[in-house]
Amino acid sequence: MRTLMNTYNRLPVSFTHGDGAWLFDADGKRYLDALAGIGVCSLGHAHPAVTKAISEQAGKLLHTSNIYRIDLQEKLGDALAGVSRMESMFFGNSGAEANEAAIKIARLYGHHEKRVDIPTIIVLDGAFHGRTMATLTATGNRKIQAGFEPLVTGFVRAPFNDMAAINTIAHNNPNIVAVLLEPLQGEGGVRSPAADYLTRLRALCDQHGWLLMLDEVQSGNGRTGSYFNYLQHGLLPDVVTTAKGLGNGMPIGVCMARGKAAQAMHPGNHGTTFGGNPLACAVGLTVVETIVQEQLAQRAATLGERIRDNFRTALNKDVVKEIRGQGMMIGIELHRPCAELVSKALHDGLLINVTAGSVVRLLPPLIFSDEQADILCDKLSRLINAEHQT
Ligand code: PLP
Repeated sequence: MRTLMNTYNRLPVSFTHGDGAWLFDADGKRYLDALAGIGVCSLGHAHPAVTKAISEQAGKLLHTSNIYRIDLQEKLGDALAGVSRMESMFFGNSGAEANEAAIKIARLYGHHEKRVDIPTIIVLDGAFHGRTMATLTATGNRKIQAGFEPLVTGFVRAPFNDMAAINTIAHNNPNIVAVLLEPLQGEGGVRSPAADYLTRLRALCDQHGWLLMLDEVQSGNGRTGSYFNYLQHGLLPDVVTTAKGLGNGMPIGVCMARGKAAQAMHPGNHGTTFGGNPLACAVGLTVVETIVQEQLAQRAATLGERIRDNFRTALNKDVVKEIRGQGMMIGIELHRPCAELVSKALHDGLLINVTAGSVVRLLPPLIFSDEQADILCDKLSRLINAEHQT
């Protein structure tokens, strides 16, 4: 620990192995994983198809370079085009890198298509887009930005779920070229905007020639009940980013685009050494195929609803402000801060997260069984109800 940079207040546990939705520590204690590495291991731990893809590809070829064609990258691009209806992909290694690519696309589009001098992107309060300088600037949380000034220019912030505010910006700022947002905020407290917000935003983007750029780093890959969340809104964005669940633990991220946004990049504009290497793409391809073949997005929709219903019945109404989310992205907002629930749950053999101070965030693997869902509801309801009995 002494040799690790002081970036995390780590919980006092280290896992030795996993099996599906269970994790085990060195003493053999087992933990029900209702967080999946913060929305990453959607197929659970040690999924046989993922293990096979990694070991087979590791025996063949790990890395070449993006200066050569990479067959598996092209295959993963095709598979993602099929599930996203996007046309063109740039592969990186993380969500932040995928968002960096999106921001760079918006700037190229702004300079070359819209011919504005200071291409500017609208971002939202409560957003989380990553920890690089540009993505932490886009993030709507002062705590994440503090100390890292000067921030990157070229962003304006609007309140969450407020179309009137976006209209005002449209009226006053001729430099806007894009809007970047999560269709369902994760880190910001599992918050969805009004049902018609995204369609209204799509119409406004069309009216002004702005790019609609959706960050589905957390909400993508089946988690919210469709392969990508926007597919439930009957619209297509211009740019979509995803990462987390795409690799099930293998670092991979992708920025996907269509139309004019897909034509913004040219050789020399952007690049990466590791992004989209054969190993990462072999795993990504297996993950996409497994999510589609095993209909895990549909499973996420029904199981997520069942979990929310169970909590609605089990949780004390005086304690809980709101139970919300979509699919297996679940938020339970309490009336008061509840960070201490994380260690209490850990002690009880359950892995959860608390975000935005008072929101219990659950991102269980999509392969969760009904029985595991019941264990989760049971353990967590007892903890939450007991916590606030006083
Ligand atoms: N965007 C969203 C919506 C996220 O939830 C995250 C990570 O939590 C990121 C971007 C950043 O992804 P990464 O940590 O892989 O850079």
